[in-house]
Amino acid sequence: MNSNVKLGRISGIEIGLHYSWFIIAALIVFSLGEHFRLVNPNWGAGEIWIAALFTAVLFFVTLLLHELAHSLVAQSRGLKVSAITLFALGGISQIQDDATDARTEFWVAIAGPIASLIIGFSCLGIALGLGWQRSTEPHTAAIGVLVWLGYINIALAFFNMIPGFPLDGGRVLRSLVWAITKNADRSTRIAARVGQVVAFLFILDGIWRYFSGAGFGGLWIAFIGWFLMDAAKASYAEVGTTAALRGMRVYDVMSRDCVIVDRGMSLRDFVDIYLLKTGQRCFAVEDQGRLVGIITPRDVSNISRDRWDETTVREAMRPLQELHVIAPDTPVLDALKLMARNDVNQLPVVANGTLQGMVSRSQLVQLLQVRSVLQLPATYRSTLQRKGEDLRKGA
Ligand SMILES: [Zn+2]
Repeated sequence: MNSNVKLGRISGIEIGLHYSWFIIAALIVFSLGEHFRLVNPNWGAGEIWIAALFTAVLFFVTLLLHELAHSLVAQSRGLKVSAITLFALGGISQIQDDATDARTEFWVAIAGPIASLIIGFSCLGIALGLGWQRSTEPHTAAIGVLVWLGYINIALAFFNMIPGFPLDGGRVLRSLVWAITKNADRSTRIAARVGQVVAFLFILDGIWRYFSGAGFGGLWIAFIGWFLMDAAKASYAEVGTTAALRGMRVYDVMSRDCVIVDRGMSLRDFVDIYLLKTGQRCFAVEDQGRLVGIITPRDVSNISRDRWDETTVREAMRPLQELHVIAPDTPVLDALKLMARNDVNQLPVVANGTLQGMVSRSQLVQLLQVRSVLQLPATYRSTLQRKGEDLRKGA
């Protein structure tokens, strides 16, 4: 999920909001306004709305602290974190690398709930210091705000510890199974299965509540369940993909049949001679044997057809500086991540300034399909791959 509103950086991590956050922020302000009005009849209207707004902002800060806890622990253990995005259902830390050991996974996962617990109890502690007593309501606005934040953060810590992958609790469960079985893939599968069961219970519970008159609240629980179910299924499927592609390098899978076109050629000739004749999608543009850019059907479609005669391939291509290129020995999984991060479908593979080939998402999907048709186990390696792996081991 990409953020729509960027707020700045903390420790090199980009902090942003997704549009869906604003819907939830508005809901929180209105329901808090209602809540404060009911519980504290002594507050004036201005006081109620200022307190509600202020609480919503502080709630946002505490969510951010929860995510920062995950991210900073990840950073301290050598993992790269690119961004934190807050959206309708909470926050997401975009940690770019997967934890390489169970211990790291455990601490990164549990850091968030621990942060929420500390925040929650601190808020309640300060409220007590200000003279909060559970039995005496109404109380002052400051105490009202602190108590709400205290309870919500403690609730958040417990909700996140539900062992449904990819919630924090699911990750903690995964790290524990990982530590016991010493098998990362198996632990993800087990955690994802438990996550599906938990999600199913959420949906059942939500539907049950809906029909016993809880209305929107019930549907909301069912919705969270559906979201968890989807996420658990995706993580389960990802294990298969990851396992099949692990150990593969880009040169094992890249297509090498890129056609080199002359940079001075007009787009009209390029379309007629290459695009419509070969059906190929990858064309490299070179200048004295060095790659200067690539041109795809999409780049051509950006130029209006009546300008095809006067526009050269060089003018329409995407220059090398704007492309993300990878080296042939890049792991395929890293290439996939790079494509996802930059939202591109293919990457040129370049060594010593010359184009070696292209790797694309659709091609990797086809590769996985072939493997599944042949019913190859995830551990199956082709002769070529085994040779490459032996070479690297020897090196
Ligand atoms: Zn978390």
